[in-house]
Amino acid sequence: MNTKKRSFKFKIIIPTVVILIALVVVINVFQTIRLANIGNSLINEKLSSVTNGLNFYLEESMGKSNVAALTAARNPDVIKAVVARDTTKLVQTLAPICESYLIDYFTITDKDGMVLARTYDAESYGDSILNQQNIVDALNGKVSTYFESGTLIMVSIRTGAPILDEDGKIVGAVSAGVRFDIDDKVEALKALFDSEVTIFYGDTRIATTIVRDGRSIVGTTLDKRVAEIVLGEKREYSGDEDVLGAKYKIYCKPLINPHDEAFAAIFVAIPLENLMLETNSSIRNGIIIGLGGLAIAIVLLYIMISSLSQPITILSGDLRDIANGNLGIDITVKGNDEVGNLGESLQKVADILHKLLSDINQTIEEHEKGNIDFFLDTDEFFGDYRKLADNIIDLAALGMRDQLTGIPNRRAFDNRLSMEWGRAIRENNYLSVLVLDVDKFKNYNDTFGHQQGDVALKTVAKTVRDALKRPADFPARWGGEEFVVLLPSTDTEGAVVVAENVRKEIENAVIPCADERGARVTVSIGVCSQVPMRDSIIEDFILSADAALYRAKENGRNRVEANDSNQAR
Ligand code: GH3
Ligand code: MG
Ligand code: MG
Repeated sequence: MNTKKRSFKFKIIIPTVVILIALVVVINVFQTIRLANIGNSLINEKLSSVTNGLNFYLEESMGKSNVAALTAARNPDVIKAVVARDTTKLVQTLAPICESYLIDYFTITDKDGMVLARTYDAESYGDSILNQQNIVDALNGKVSTYFESGTLIMVSIRTGAPILDEDGKIVGAVSAGVRFDIDDKVEALKALFDSEVTIFYGDTRIATTIVRDGRSIVGTTLDKRVAEIVLGEKREYSGDEDVLGAKYKIYCKPLINPHDEAFAAIFVAIPLENLMLETNSSIRNGIIIGLGGLAIAIVLLYIMISSLSQPITILSGDLRDIANGNLGIDITVKGNDEVGNLGESLQKVADILHKLLSDINQTIEEHEKGNIDFFLDTDEFFGDYRKLADNIIDLAALGMRDQLTGIPNRRAFDNRLSMEWGRAIRENNYLSVLVLDVDKFKNYNDTFGHQQGDVALKTVAKTVRDALKRPADFPARWGGEEFVVLLPSTDTEGAVVVAENVRKEIENAVIPCADERGARVTVSIGVCSQVPMRDSIIEDFILSADAALYRAKENGRNRVEANDSNQAR
């Protein structure tokens, strides 16, 4: 027959494996989320350091172009050369200023905005550069700095300043410029982020590494929504976007000029495909690590359980041998753990039985040889075992008996009460209890002495015990001079009869007394009877009997009062 019994190895292994797999899955999910977050914050951090660096560079460049422009505009040689329209002299004078202020170029115009000299391109003079705002400002007497993208790859920071003659009349303008090769920056950023990078000036793309059809996409504008956030609100932005028909995760941060205006934006775009690859590989690593851990855990678990189940299997085999009569067995399972203890105990049992059996066999052999009469003195043969058994029973009983009177004590009563209570509920039957209290016992003690008081209590206990007729009736000493009697299957009427009988027997009992005056005592008895229900409270049952006892005392002592708890319901 194919029974569905399973070794407890599997009862432990299967749920453990399931739990471990669940753990691996959960850890993987968290790991993936954590990695994605780390990736995000890493990119954001890099982006911040880059924009901060650029912002600082721009600020510094503006400072340099400012100082250089003002220095050039106030240089007397420059002023003289402008008035004289002497290009050679201008370039000669401006070159060392250019160098010492670490700027890239100067452009000088006359008062109409026509170029008189350039430090970087000596040939192209004569054209008007009134399209440059800083030149217009300078010819109106103002010093101003602008960030301008002259070509798509070059960005300049230019400061314009007016050139005044001795009378304070504007005779021309100087423009000091610091160049900034933004394409270089974009390539450097691309290497740094290992992704596509774009720089927007305003919302117009001025440099990018995103390539379509083999050409850089420049001049297109930043998505309006993103431009609004980054340039309008000067906030960084990140999100998944369609860029030029492909999916990218983008990060965008504003570049802030020293006037606290967002004049440009850096835009890093990482193809989602790359991110997915990274995430997938981290999941794969997680699974490999998880499965490795799982395999190790299973092996460890198997070894652990084997170390437990193997000795148990051996022990149960040994036990079967003993049951089959092979008592001379040598049990090999030993050791300090629970199973080892079990093995050693089993060995002792087998040894005792083995010796017993061989003693019996030897006796029978001797008898068969005619050496001894076959007479088994069971008392002698089993004497030691019997004494041991009796002692054990006594020991167990000792904790349940009252030392003075020898009847059951309160602990025994509590045990019996809960047993009988349960039975009465199950059988829907009456349970009664008597609570006895010796009347004026203090006086008795005072008159006859405490020792004589003890004799009286013994007499009361014996009288109560002898007065009970049914084997199930259970007397006990409750404590002091109080006794209780449990009467199963007894209703109020019956219980009152028993109580009345007990009361009379005690009233009539003569207590052995040294001075032969023959002392007597009386008791008051409270009775409670109840058919307990599942929700009945056992303490209320006893309290009700106590209350009846109190009434008996109140009403003159040496009498019985009863409560029927069913009628109180
Ligand atoms: P009543 O119950 O009728 O109201 O009066 P009582 O004098 O019996 O009441 P109380 O409870 O005040 O006194 C009980 C006395 O029982 C006090 C104590 O001296 C005595 N007693 C209690 N346990 C023992 C005992 O083990 N041996 C002896 N000799 N006396 C005890
Ligand atoms: Mg009392
Ligand atoms: Mg009393």
